[in-house]
Amino acid sequence: MAFPLAVVLLALIGSAVCRPQLAPTTCVDNGQCKQIDPTQLNVHLVPHTHDDVGWLKTVDQYFYGTRNGDQRAGVQYIIDSVVEQLLKNETRKFIYVETAFFWKWWQLQTPEHQERVKKLVNDGQLEFINGGWCMNDEAAAHYQSIVDQMTWGHRRLQDTFGECGIPRIGWQIDPFGHSREQASLFAQMAFDAVFFYRIDYEDHNIRVKEKRMELLWQGTDDLGKASDIFTHIMEMGYGPPPGFSWETARDNPSDDAIIDDPESEDYNVDKIVDKFITYAKQYSNYYATNNVLFPMGTDFCYEDANAWFKNMDKLIKYVNAKKVNGSNVNVFYSTPTCYLNGIHQANHTFTTKSDDFFPYASYYHSYWTGYFTSRPALKRYEKVGNNALQVCKQLDVLSLGNGKNEDKITPLREWLGVMQHHDAIAGTEKQHVSDNYALKLYKTIEKCQSVVDESLNILIGDKNLNQLFCNQLNVSACAVTEGTDNIAVTLYNAFGHNINRVVRLPVTSKAYKVFDPKGNAVKSDIVAIPESVLSLKERKSKAKDELVFEAQVPALGFSTYLLKANSVQKSINEAKITKISDAFTIKSKSLNIRFDKTGALNSIELKNGKVVDFKQNFEFYKAKDNNDDFHQPSGAYVFRSDGDSPQLYNTTTLQADLVETSDVKEVRQKVSEYVSQVIRILPNNDMIEFDFVVGPIPVDDKIGKEIISRWETNLTTNGLFYTDANGRQLLERKRDFRPTWKLTVYEEIAGNYYPVNSRIAIRDEKQDIQMTVLNDRSQGGSSIKDGSVELMVHRRDLYDDHFGVAEALNEPGVDGKGLQIRGKFWVLFTSIAEAAEAHREMAYDILLEPSLTFAKISGSVEEYVKSHKTQYSGLTKELPKNVHLLTLEQWKGSSYLIRLEHFYQQKESQSLFSSQTPIRIVSNRKELS
Ligand SMILES: [Zn+2]
Repeated sequence: MAFPLAVVLLALIGSAVCRPQLAPTTCVDNGQCKQIDPTQLNVHLVPHTHDDVGWLKTVDQYFYGTRNGDQRAGVQYIIDSVVEQLLKNETRKFIYVETAFFWKWWQLQTPEHQERVKKLVNDGQLEFINGGWCMNDEAAAHYQSIVDQMTWGHRRLQDTFGECGIPRIGWQIDPFGHSREQASLFAQMAFDAVFFYRIDYEDHNIRVKEKRMELLWQGTDDLGKASDIFTHIMEMGYGPPPGFSWETARDNPSDDAIIDDPESEDYNVDKIVDKFITYAKQYSNYYATNNVLFPMGTDFCYEDANAWFKNMDKLIKYVNAKKVNGSNVNVFYSTPTCYLNGIHQANHTFTTKSDDFFPYASYYHSYWTGYFTSRPALKRYEKVGNNALQVCKQLDVLSLGNGKNEDKITPLREWLGVMQHHDAIAGTEKQHVSDNYALKLYKTIEKCQSVVDESLNILIGDKNLNQLFCNQLNVSACAVTEGTDNIAVTLYNAFGHNINRVVRLPVTSKAYKVFDPKGNAVKSDIVAIPESVLSLKERKSKAKDELVFEAQVPALGFSTYLLKANSVQKSINEAKITKISDAFTIKSKSLNIRFDKTGALNSIELKNGKVVDFKQNFEFYKAKDNNDDFHQPSGAYVFRSDGDSPQLYNTTTLQADLVETSDVKEVRQKVSEYVSQVIRILPNNDMIEFDFVVGPIPVDDKIGKEIISRWETNLTTNGLFYTDANGRQLLERKRDFRPTWKLTVYEEIAGNYYPVNSRIAIRDEKQDIQMTVLNDRSQGGSSIKDGSVELMVHRRDLYDDHFGVAEALNEPGVDGKGLQIRGKFWVLFTSIAEAAEAHREMAYDILLEPSLTFAKISGSVEEYVKSHKTQYSGLTKELPKNVHLLTLEQWKGSSYLIRLEHFYQQKESQSLFSSQTPIRIVSNRKELS
C-alpha cells in the first residue's frame, strides 16, 4: 500500500496551515464586493457576534443559554435566529467566527436545514472569518497549538462547505494585545488581512491622528513578503456606533428602532439617518481610504437577529436615499473580505510595522500584563494537554490506526482548541469556568490515553500489556510505581531528535533495580522527595523517595526501561543530605556554579574562565488595590504593582540543604513558609534547573501579591532583553521603549512586562555572554534592571480589575485556602552565537518532554526483553538539527498530515538556517517517502 504523501523539507521557518489556493469558484466571492462605489464614502456594515468559548459561563452554558443571570447569552439561539433572518432577505450578510460553537450547532440541524445553510455560505451571505476552533489568545498560546486549532476549525469548515467555507481573514477583535508570530502565521495560512481592536491607547491616539489605523504588518524577518499581512485596527471597539445597537434580546432598553411611518408622532428616520451620516464622516477621518467598517454587533449579540436586520435594512435604505440629494455616503451589508476589496481599489500605500502590539495598555495605569501569568496551574495543564495530544496523534499514525481512533482523539483536539481561547489559556475567565476547562481537559486526555495504550502495545508487540498513566507525576505521586514489584516503564519521545532524559519516579520501596531496553542494569539513585513537595495539599501518596535514572530515547520513538524489586538493599545509591553552612561550588559539564554559605546562588564561572555574578531570589510585588483615584487594581487582566520595588523574602532565614548522589547535585532551599525550590545541576549538562513550589500565597494582611523569580547578574545589557513570540520568534525588547512611538510609561513595572511563552534572555554583547531562562508554561516577564531577568510565577489578587470578569483572581486551590503551584525553570549561560542552538533544542525538549507509561509485568528481565520490542523509532534516523516535526497525524481517509518546520531564525544561526537534508519517515511497517 502506498502512502499518498510527499514529505518535503521546507527551507522556510514553518509551513502553512493546510489550505489550498482558491481556485475559480462557484461560491459568491465577497471579495468582488460590487456595492462599492469609488466616488463615495463606502460604509461597510459588518453584522457579527463575538461568542467567547467560555468566559463568564462555560462553553455549554453559553451554547445552550443557561445561567443567564450571569450573562444573557445563548449561542444556539443566535445562530438559529441569524440563519432565519439571512434566509428572509438575500441582501443580508453575517460573519461567523468560532467554529467550536458553529460545529456544535451544525450537528443538531436537519439535513434540509443544513442544505439551506450551505446555500447561504455559497451565496456569500454567511461568511466564515478566522474560523479557528476559537479566537485564540496571542500571548499565552504556543504556535503549535495555534496551528492545530486553526487547522481543525478550517478542516471542519472545508469538509462541510467546501472551498466557500474557507476563511480568508483574521478577526482577532478581542485578544488583549497582538503577537508578531500570529501575524506571520495568518499570512502563512494565506489570510489576506487581520482585523482587531486592542492596541496601546497612546499608539491608538497617534495612529488615529495620522490616519494610520491600517498598516502592512511584517510578520517575520525570515520569510520576507510571504509573512506580510494587511492590518486593520478598529477605532471604536468591535461594537456598533453609539445609538445603533438593536440588541433587544439582551439590552434593556436597546437603542431606538427606526420608525418610518410618516404619520407617526415618533417618526425618527431623518434624525437617525443624519446621526449615522455624521458619524460615518467623522469616523472616516481616522482612515486613509474612502472605506469605513462598522462592526454591527458585539458579545453574544443577535439572539433576536430580526431586530438588528429589520433596523439595518431601513438604515441602508434611508441613508442611501439621501444620495439623490447629494449625500456621498454609500452604506451596505458587507464582510471584511468585501471591505478589503474596497481597500485594494483605493490603491493607497500603507505604512509598515515589524514589531508587535504588546503590551496592551487601555489607559495610563491599565497595562494588561497580569494575564500573561494569571491561573498558572491551568496554563501548565494546557501544555500538558498539548503534549498528550501530540503523543496520541503520533502513536495513532505509527501504529497504523487508519482512522479507527478518530473518536478518541478528536475530543482532545477540540478541547485543546477551546483552551487556546482568549479567556481560557489567558486565565481571564471566572473560577467555575476555569474548573470546567480543567475537568474537560482531564476527560479528553484520558480518552486519548486509551489510544496511546493500544498503539504502544501494537508497537511493543504485546496486546496483553496494559499501559497505565501517572497523571500526578507533577506532585511526585504515581499509584503504579508505588508498591509494584515489576514494571516496564516506556518513555515515548514525540520530538524528532534523540534525547537523554533523567527519569524521576516516586517509589515506596528503596529497593529497585533498573534495566535498559537491552536488559543491562543501569545506575539508579534513590533521592528523598523534598519536604515542600511531600506537603502539597493535593498529594495523596505514600512515596517518600524518587527513583532516579537516566534514559535514552530515540527520535519519534520509545525506550522501555524495566524496574525490578531488589531485595539486596546494599546496592542502593541513596542520596546524601547535608545542611549547608559554608560556601561551595558545584560543577556542571563546563560551568562552576558557586553558592554562598546560606545556600543561595552567588556566581558562575563560565567555560572561558569568566566569572559572572549570578543570584536568584523569589520576590513579590504588592498588588494595587482599588482605592486610589484611578480605581485600577491588579486583577485577572491587569497587573498593577503598588510601588515599583518588589519585596524580597528575607534571605538571612534561608534554609538550605545540599543533596548529593553520584550524579545529581541539588540545593534545596526553603525561602519562606510558602516558597521553596530545588536547584538541580547535572554533571553532563550545562543547564541549571529550578524546581519550585509556591503557594498558597498568604493574603491575611489584605494585600494581593504577585510572586516573581528574579535572576540577577552583573552583565551589561543596556535596557535590552529578548522574549519569544508564541514559542517561536525571539523579539528584542527595550525597557521603557516602543519601536513605533515615543512612550510615556505610567507603570514602570507592568508597562515593561511582556509575554514569555517559552524563554526570556539577556545579552552582554561586549563579553559575548547570553543568559537564557526557559519556563514550563506561559508567564509574564521582564528585565526591570540591567543584568536581571524576572518571571512572574503566581498571582493572588483581592479585587476585580473592572474589565468584565467581575471576580478577583483569588484561586482557592484544592482546600479553599489558596492555590499551590509547582513549576520549573531552566537557565543557560552560553556565548551569543551558541545560544540559539542551546535554547531552541531545549525548548522542544520541554514542550515535548517524553510521555511515560507503566505496565505491570511478570517474569524475568531477559524474558521480557526477548519477547518484546523495547526500543523503537519511527524515523530511519533522527531529523536534522534544524528541523522539527510540528505535526504528524492521521488526516482524512488514508492520508496523513505532516508538517516539518525549520525552527531557527536567520540571524541567530546562519549555518543551521540554510542547510537542507532529505528526510524519510517510517511507520513500524510502511515507509513514507
Ligand atoms: Zn472575547
